Amino acid sequence: MKRRSLFWKVYPLSFFVIFISLLLAALYGAREMRTLYIDQLTNTLEARARIAERLLKPLLNSNEFTRLNLECRRISEVSNTRITVVDAQGFVLGDSHDDPASMESHATRPEVVIAYGGEVGVRTRYSNTLQANMMYVAIPVKENREIVAVVRMAVPVSAVGNVLNSFYRNITIGGAIILVLAALASSVVLKRLSDPLRELRDGAVQFAAGDLDSRLPVPATEEIADLSESMNRMAEQLNARIKTVAQQRNEREAILSSMSEGILALDADEKIVLLNRVAADFLDLDISESRGKALYEMTRIPSVLDFVDRALHNPDVTEMEIKMPGTSEKYFQARAAALKDSFGKKVGVVVVFNDITRLKKLESIRRDFVANVSHELRTPITAITGSVETLLDGAMDNSDDSRRFLEMIARHSDRLNRLIEDLLSLAKIESETEQTGADLICGQVSDVIQSSLLACQEKSRIHEVNISSSCDPNLEVHMNRGPLEQAITNLIDNAIKYSNRGSTVDVEVTLSGDEIVISVQDQGTGIAAEHLPRLFERFYRVDTGRSRDVGGTGLGLAIVKHVAVAHQGRVSVDSSPGKGSSFRIHLPRTQ
Ligand code: ADP
Repeated sequence: MKRRSLFWKVYPLSFFVIFISLLLAALYGAREMRTLYIDQLTNTLEARARIAERLLKPLLNSNEFTRLNLECRRISEVSNTRITVVDAQGFVLGDSHDDPASMESHATRPEVVIAYGGEVGVRTRYSNTLQANMMYVAIPVKENREIVAVVRMAVPVSAVGNVLNSFYRNITIGGAIILVLAALASSVVLKRLSDPLRELRDGAVQFAAGDLDSRLPVPATEEIADLSESMNRMAEQLNARIKTVAQQRNEREAILSSMSEGILALDADEKIVLLNRVAADFLDLDISESRGKALYEMTRIPSVLDFVDRALHNPDVTEMEIKMPGTSEKYFQARAAALKDSFGKKVGVVVVFNDITRLKKLESIRRDFVANVSHELRTPITAITGSVETLLDGAMDNSDDSRRFLEMIARHSDRLNRLIEDLLSLAKIESETEQTGADLICGQVSDVIQSSLLACQEKSRIHEVNISSSCDPNLEVHMNRGPLEQAITNLIDNAIKYSNRGSTVDVEVTLSGDEIVISVQDQGTGIAAEHLPRLFERFYRVDTGRSRDVGGTGLGLAIVKHVAVAHQGRVSVDSSPGKGSSFRIHLPRTQ
């Protein structure tokens, strides 16, 4: 159905009603007016007939018909009315407009017939004499209770019509003016009614568009004012409710997004109801795109789909370890709980994902570490037990042999000792790092460098390696002095170990942005690029044989890295085989 505004719906109707009312009133008025006018005219004609009767009666009685005829003409002139006198037999005795002698009998004229009956005869009909529509009023003339004649007055109907026409014209003009005024008035009234309604409508449209802070104007009309006040109250309450819901949703989203666990809620059809950022990252999904979609449409990870499917259909399945496909080697612990509606009926499932990749890595590091330590320990222990057995088997009797085996025992004991010392240092640094707020004391870097250089002095002399150092004595860092000294010593020790005789090792401390960089650069063997990423792992060696020959344990750089991390710093390395290496410890600058 075509929609129209209230104004155009009501206005034509009210105009039509006004028009019809005016038309009916005009028609009724015209009819009443016509009746009134005709009655009035009849009465006037009757009164004139009565006057004429008085004037003509003496002439009638004296049979002076010529004078009577003349008198008729005179009366007609002054009264503007045709006057006819007819005797009891219907002969015309006098007529104001024609010669009575030439006129036919009027005994059968209807108005005359009525007057013969003693009544006033009133008729409107065509006059053969005047050849026009005439209105006749005839009265009986009585003499001694006997009708002796009839006096008839007549006026042309056209005269009546003219009067009525002018009356109708006036009614039409008046009606048209009233119609225009009424139309204007009703349009003003309707506008005053529909304007506030339009404002209400505009306000409601704004509410519907989500602008619940706007308010509707309150007009003076009581009903509309009540309506707009109610709508304003409704908008206020709705606004408050929406704000509460939004706040609750934001709180929930904040909680969900700040959780370290991934949360995925699915309905019974496996459609995603809720997904937090962590879960979206785990499953490589887009949060807004995934909501409402079936999980199997969004991800193809078989282990996840299988777990969700089993959790949905089997209440016993609640936990599973999931390995993500791909090269990233990610592991998740997935735990499922039933999602229930307000009646306690199961309507889906909530899956919580825990990233256990780090845990898995730690486990494997620990396993590798134990294997590595056992392996590292086995070599010197085998050598020592082998030497002792050989000595006991008789080598002891030969002084050269016993010396050789005892030296071997001493060398391997020394190696065992260093290994255990390094392991202990590593464990100590690790436990210190884990403790919050490990004691870092502000101290001069140059002091630590000097101590490390002193510790390496003897070795550099034996290996014939020169050491140069430069350090601003004013540079200070927050440090755990013992471990830091050990870390720098390890780097200088390595630089000496893997350098050629006569070469130089440069120890330098510089400022770089917010960091203090301690670098140890040598001109030694250098390291191939493929080894660099793993260099700081425990027991990682580039050349195992050479490392063992020079008394390395494979733990030196791991200690350096742990010390740097314990100081909220980091390590870096540059190296080119054959040219030398540059190891750096970056420490945060003391402000
Ligand atoms: P190690 O006790 O065997 O020296 P580290 O952890 O100190 O163990 O070093 C790991 C490995 O890195 C060493 O085995 C060695 O191959 C290599 N390396 C360390 N420092 C240097 C260096 N300055 N020049 C060349 N290679 C080095």
